Amino acid sequence: MAAVVWFRSDLRTVDNPALDAACLNHKHVYALFLVPQRTWQAHDWAPIKVDLWWRHLAEFKQELADKGIGFSIFTIDRFSQSGATIADFCEKHKVNTVYANREYPLDEIERDKQARACFEQRDIEFQLFDGNLLVPPEAVETKQGGYYKVFTPFNRAWRTEVAKISDWTPESWRVENTVASSTELPQCPLERKNSQTYPVGRQAIMGKLGQFIEHQVDEYKARRDEPSVDGTSMMSAYFEMGAIAPKTVARALSSLSPEFPYGLEPGADTWLTEVAWREFYQHLMFHEPRLSRGENYQTETQGLPWRDAEEDFQAWCDGRTGFPIVDAGMRQLNETGWMHNRLRMIVANFLVKDLLIDWRKGEQYFMRNLVDGSFPANNGGWQWSASVGTDAVPYFRVFNPVRQSEKFDPDGIYIRTWIKELADVPSKHIHWPHSYLKQHKTGYVSPIVDHSEARERFLSTFKQVKNG
Ligand SMILES: Cc1cc2nc3c(=O)[nH]c(=O)nc-3n(C[C@H](O)[C@H](O)[C@H](O)COP(=O)(O)OP(=O)(O)OC[C@H]3O[C@@H](n4cnc5c(N)ncnc54)[C@H](O)[C@@H]3O)c2cc1C
Repeated sequence: MAAVVWFRSDLRTVDNPALDAACLNHKHVYALFLVPQRTWQAHDWAPIKVDLWWRHLAEFKQELADKGIGFSIFTIDRFSQSGATIADFCEKHKVNTVYANREYPLDEIERDKQARACFEQRDIEFQLFDGNLLVPPEAVETKQGGYYKVFTPFNRAWRTEVAKISDWTPESWRVENTVASSTELPQCPLERKNSQTYPVGRQAIMGKLGQFIEHQVDEYKARRDEPSVDGTSMMSAYFEMGAIAPKTVARALSSLSPEFPYGLEPGADTWLTEVAWREFYQHLMFHEPRLSRGENYQTETQGLPWRDAEEDFQAWCDGRTGFPIVDAGMRQLNETGWMHNRLRMIVANFLVKDLLIDWRKGEQYFMRNLVDGSFPANNGGWQWSASVGTDAVPYFRVFNPVRQSEKFDPDGIYIRTWIKELADVPSKHIHWPHSYLKQHKTGYVSPIVDHSEARERFLSTFKQVKNG
């Protein structure tokens, strides 16, 4: 009998255990991808992310066709229709097994449960794998049998599991042709925003990874916090759609140390730790379904009295707060769909602590605009910044945007790149240009808040809630 591989956020042919299992066990393999348009909308998919996926899907269809695997894409309304749509396809093509890689947020787990129930009624087997993580959530346990709530011990335990991976060789297989004559992609049902600056397709993405590992990873620890330099991998959007597997990345790093995941130079070691952060947030989401419902991890902070301040929120979204480093970050996001990690922390801290606006509004704005929008990483990053998450930044650490700017963008290169009104402001005024701008008007906005007063407001509000 033939098999179906139900692709989701694992759009690759290498290091994909669901695809490997299907191709090793069946002569004929079909690939399917569903576009649940209302669910994607409800999950705040950014138009630039939709565009990137759509462009990659076209390349991926060709990559699968070259291996003899026919790829069908169906638009459905919601996740709940997945099971029936796939079961109908299976009946038509005499398929008895569906293979997929697990996803860990609540809606995705529910979708798979419903699909399993539907498949069972129609005698179709459903096999799930953990190809989107190096280490599945159940494999990392504390001595007491729970999950890790703090990153550092998690990272230690996670590396112990990575060290147990003994076979790094990618699977190879051959299947008989199931490619239909049409190789056209259907019309994309959702709004798209041009993502051309992000290359797609296996070759281009592997080239980008290779370039990073060969020429940049050594400098990663030293340069990853400088937003004006190209110091990070820019792989996040590819991780999110699964165009690259964590196993592929780990294999590339393993060539740098015979004791992998230990013995790496500081740059590569720090980068592997970032990959562990990605897995940490996915594990958390799996273990704590309430995170998928928008709740604060620290339940005692649930009642924080956020300000209803639409104008301030809009100024933050548009990059018009009068705080150059914050505005530069937001303008980078609005123009490119990506923002440097240091900036994500600064703008999130500012929204929550200086403006006292609910972190969920920032989380949603990010999802609606990021090319790499990832529910677990974004939720984790926002809860961390808002001091309401597990292992979050302490609430009394309120970033001073001007100090952050001086420290991480000392010459103002990043600020000048994104804020044209400040392009000619001398370096000594760039971090706080307002007195300089009184003599040299450029149209740059005045600050919407006094940082010291805002800091006090946040601290007293948070303390009251914490102390009950
Ligand atoms: C408020 C906030 C929101 C964020 N939202 C997202 C998001 O929607 N999607 C997303 O992928 N990352 C998110 N991050 C994490 C991080 O900012 C991005 O992963 C990183 O900037 C992507 O750039 P890069 O690929 O060059 O990362 P690199 O520095 O090269 O890191 C390598 C990979 O590790 C992972 N990673 C790195 N840092 C983190 C982190 N803190 N948490 C989880 N995974 C991490 C990513 O997959 C990244 O591609 C967020 C962070 C914050 C503070």
